[in-house]
Amino acid sequence: MKLNFSGLRALVTGAGKGIGRDTVKALHASGARVVAVTRTNADLVSLSKECPGIEPVCVDLGNWEATEQALGTVGPVDLLVNNAAVVVMQPFLEVTKEAFDRSFNVNLRSVLQVSQIVARGMIARGAPGSIVNISSMVAYVTFPNLITYSSTKSAMTMLTKTMAGELGPHKIRVNSVNPTVVLTDMGKKGTSDPEFRRKLMERHPLRKFAEVEDVVNTILFLLSEHSASTTGSGILVDCGYLAS
Ligand code: NDP
Repeated sequence: MKLNFSGLRALVTGAGKGIGRDTVKALHASGARVVAVTRTNADLVSLSKECPGIEPVCVDLGNWEATEQALGTVGPVDLLVNNAAVVVMQPFLEVTKEAFDRSFNVNLRSVLQVSQIVARGMIARGAPGSIVNISSMVAYVTFPNLITYSSTKSAMTMLTKTMAGELGPHKIRVNSVNPTVVLTDMGKKGTSDPEFRRKLMERHPLRKFAEVEDVVNTILFLLSEHSASTTGSGILVDCGYLAS
């Protein structure tokens, strides 16, 4: 999707790989100045070569204090994509405290924290903005061994709606994108058994998983003025799974 974000500054978390990386590339190509936030510095080095001029920030978003230090003075941001997440696959009876805490800290608490930093700046400047939270279709449906991950994403639904309600009067929109499987590193991990992957794909009315580009296009739409009257919503990019 070709949109013009010239003159705007965007911040993307989880920018090193997968959906976040391609979101940075698309925003950069559309004229935005981009702050790219991730955990592995080598990913930022290679991304900076592909997208000259981006502002790399290396931080573990699961660490509140480190995030405050890295992003507390990030400056004006108009567009925010909360994309970083981890998935730990465990059945309910085997969920560990470490996996639960880590998942909620990275997938949900960092969304609250980074959004607070960015939204406070928007309000102080009197500037409008758009925040897009990358959720999942498993915010709405169960999936084997994903109880912790899907709980973070369903909590994100209410975070998104409540943020939209409180920030709407400041002309800040907040929405989510809810994809089905996308075969990034994360998506491959969740569908590593070939037979499970095949059967799962067949349950989708479109008989396929989503492509990274499909998700990025939806993110760009929600960031842009083309969705000017949409807030507190989630857009499914699920190849029809929830309709099946
Ligand atoms: P990837 O695992 O491919 O990429 C995730 C990125 O986030 C990596 O660059 C990773 O860095 C970064 N990241 C993870 N933890 C942290 C952290 N603590 N601090 C900073 N950066 C971090 O995932 P996807 O691109 O597939 O997923 C992107 C989003 O899409 C996520 O929110 C995910 O939940 C969602 N989603 C993905 C689906 C899929 O099937 N792939 C389906 C539905 C939703 P590093 O590698 O260095 O840890």
